[in-house]
Amino acid sequence: MKNKILQNPYLNKGTAFTYAERQKYELDGLLPSEVESIDTQILRVKEILDNIPEALEKNYYLTSIYRTNRTLYFATIQKYLTELLPIIYTPTIGDVVMNAHKHFEPSTDAVYINAFRPETMKRKLQNACENPEKIKMLVITDGEGILGIGDWGVNGIQIAIGKLAVYTLAAGLDPETCLPIALDCGTNNKELREHPLYLGERKERLTGVEYDASIESFIQSAKEVFPEAVFHFEDFGRENASRILETYRDQVCSFNDDIEGTGAMVVAAALATTRVSKIPLDKQRIIIFGAGTAGIGIANQISHEMMHITQQPFETAKQAFYLVDKNGLITNDMTDLTDGQQKYARNEEDFTQLDTTSLLELVKAIKPTMLIGASGVAGAFTEDVVREMANNTIRPAILPLSNPTKLAEAKASDLITWTKGKALIVTGSPTSPVEYEGQTYEIGQANNALLYPGLGLGTVVSRAQKITSQMLREAAHAVSNQVNLTHKGAALLPPVSTLLETSTQVAYAVCQAAIKEGVAKTENITQEDVQAAIWTPVYKEV
Ligand code: NAD
Repeated sequence: MKNKILQNPYLNKGTAFTYAERQKYELDGLLPSEVESIDTQILRVKEILDNIPEALEKNYYLTSIYRTNRTLYFATIQKYLTELLPIIYTPTIGDVVMNAHKHFEPSTDAVYINAFRPETMKRKLQNACENPEKIKMLVITDGEGILGIGDWGVNGIQIAIGKLAVYTLAAGLDPETCLPIALDCGTNNKELREHPLYLGERKERLTGVEYDASIESFIQSAKEVFPEAVFHFEDFGRENASRILETYRDQVCSFNDDIEGTGAMVVAAALATTRVSKIPLDKQRIIIFGAGTAGIGIANQISHEMMHITQQPFETAKQAFYLVDKNGLITNDMTDLTDGQQKYARNEEDFTQLDTTSLLELVKAIKPTMLIGASGVAGAFTEDVVREMANNTIRPAILPLSNPTKLAEAKASDLITWTKGKALIVTGSPTSPVEYEGQTYEIGQANNALLYPGLGLGTVVSRAQKITSQMLREAAHAVSNQVNLTHKGAALLPPVSTLLETSTQVAYAVCQAAIKEGVAKTENITQEDVQAAIWTPVYKEV
């Protein structure tokens, strides 16, 4: 045991080891004499962070603490959550991914699975931890569609690590029960593949039946090694993400945050707007600008919500949607539509008189009550588009969700000015409050961190066999119910500073839904049971 405890990130306390512990583990002389509290340690970490100018360097410094002392890492970030979440997660995580091959530090807790060698998968997963039954959450990525920055091969492991850190920070998932996994399927990012420091397979991506066979091998191996784990799929390419989700939805307890998490998050935001606009969700006309992974996930989840409200079939619910992609309004004469887009395609004959590539023309004709942006096209919601929308709807719901801020379809301050404070806004990136004619408007952020950690915790606590649409619905309602909209200018979503409270409510709602749906292995889950499952970053006696 000698010295080893200092290298175990789950047991290490550094200068906080007591004299008795120092004696017990033969640490005498290996630490300065002062025994510090975790608060003093946090003080030092924060002081060092404040002197680091660049976000990426701050991330690297925090990661060095992650590797050596997990408790201190989480305690520090939890204390300064609003300030440090963007350092360990979006937007800084994008830079971390892009530099991961140049800044590689071996981590003891990440798993790299070679998709070209399925026969090695089970052994690699078994090597990942001593006690596989303990593992409750796998975040798995093949790195093809990272956060709008594209294909980054095995560098994508950083997104899995970041996503899991948020599970712990936001919902108290015990870090020892989490495992980040990179599926190395090659990369079509030629520059990265040929970089002398790249660490993944220097091959083009696996495709077609070979890719599917490799995913199948992985799922079966992982199911066998980690029978209690939830499979969270993250940042797979657009073509593969929904197919994998549909194929394995009933085979393993699985979830895709880009599709389902985003969809449920936007349902939460949409429900909040309807409380102010007084237009029920099933009476809305919705334009979704950008019909990719997020856009389709949003349409699916909102339509599911509408079907629940009206008890009408999908064919009726889909009439509310007008999906617009890079070739304009999605119509049934288009030949290159994804499966998701096809479901919402409009009859081309109904729009022959219209320039369907012009958002302004579409807004004039459709008179939408809700406009959602998931295109990554900066400034697409122009002043004339927004003014036109406000002409037809008293309180237009406008959600420019594209990240980062520079890619957003509109700025919140412009939306407030152009609509004279009437727009009901939710953005994808954090946005400062907007002052307009003596009124402060707080802007809610559709941050997936408000939803998926609680969903994961609820799934783990209820030991659900799968994550059902109803569980996602209840998660969305639980987020939406956290906001108090009684004062003018209130944010439509809860702030990051109260993430843990929000996640606890989401987890409880998800548990109840899982029980009701008959997919939970545990019954009669109380609020106290959820609280008791929450891991907190405090030093335990060793
Ligand atoms: P994606 O690449 O799958 O989808 C983007 C879609 O926009 C594609 O279908 C593309 O063809 C379309 N598009 C491109 N140019 C267009 C144009 N001129 N007009 C209309 N459509 C156009 O990416 P994604 O994962 O769906 O993410 C899209 C955006 O949504 C990103 O900026 C991402 O940051 C953001 N997002 C936000 C949240 C959130 O706020 N919680 C969650 C997920 C994604």
